[in-house]
Amino acid sequence: MGRLGVTPEKRLVNVKSGGGRGYRSRVIDIGADAGGRGPGVGFDGTLSGFPLPLRLDDRCGAAPQEGGGPHRRRLQAAACIVGEIGLDHSVPAKEWKKQEQTLKELLPHVPAGRPVVIHIRGPNGDEEAMATYARMMELLLTYLPSEQPLFLHCFSGGEETVLEWLRTFPNIYFGYAGQVWGFNSDQVAGLRVVPLDRLLAETDSPYMPPEGHRRNSPALLCLVGDLVAEARGMTTKDFLRAATENATRLFWW
Ligand SMILES: [Zn+2]
Repeated sequence: MGRLGVTPEKRLVNVKSGGGRGYRSRVIDIGADAGGRGPGVGFDGTLSGFPLPLRLDDRCGAAPQEGGGPHRRRLQAAACIVGEIGLDHSVPAKEWKKQEQTLKELLPHVPAGRPVVIHIRGPNGDEEAMATYARMMELLLTYLPSEQPLFLHCFSGGEETVLEWLRTFPNIYFGYAGQVWGFNSDQVAGLRVVPLDRLLAETDSPYMPPEGHRRNSPALLCLVGDLVAEARGMTTKDFLRAATENATRLFWW
């Protein structure tokens, strides 16, 4: 059992979501270790660089505590997706250098064509994160080809930010989580301008629990679906169907 009481076998199977409304989604669990015994959460806040491989099966996955050495070997593993990695400027500024250093060590070893899950957070959280987005783009451009598939997770940028990323990395996907509920008008405009075939839904559980829930879980993914669908003027079902197709395409399921 992981910290959330989820057995490893359940991590990649269908999860009934939306309080029994009948939607079913496949769920990716970020941050589990190679044996499936990891905590199964986004990233460990004690880590400065948080290079956490995303576990898709037992052939891959790494405990972040193992440091830089195993990165290359693990990144070459056939089923290994890279992430989440990125810049989190909500931590004290003295940590920022370490984050960049980790990225500079890691990014040169990312195989071409391998999806990379990106975490970006500005000094004040989701708002005013423009400089952090720009710096991350600069780092990615230095080490990765523009065709690299990227997944900007828990994305909250405005329209200009969306368009800039689409221009720079055409194979990019944008993941939305529960923070859509508090989006300002520019962030909503950003959400609306993302092409339908580039949208993903996520919960970031156990973080960002929706209103009325003490703890987030993948089973609440449908609530994110409701938020995104409403902002885009479509049905939850249509949005979740598109998001599932997109995730399948991106993560080769
Ligand atoms: Zn994250």
